[in-house]
Amino acid sequence: MMCPCGCGEVIELSLSPDSKTYWTLGIEAGRPTLHPSVWRNTGCRSHFWVRRGRVHWVL
Ligand SMILES: [Zn+2]
Repeated sequence: MMCPCGCGEVIELSLSPDSKTYWTLGIEAGRPTLHPSVWRNTGCRSHFWVRRGRVHWVL
């Protein structure tokens, strides 16, 4: 997915439990929800949740 902050970088999220860090992708009301939150430790350092297809920023 593209980073939603607009920095133009691509964030790769692993959905495989074999990875050290991975995300759970659920579908709520037909829209994607990710758990846990996405926190980039490089680049723009964005921290956000994706719930029901919408980005919720963690301030
Ligand atoms: Zn960004």
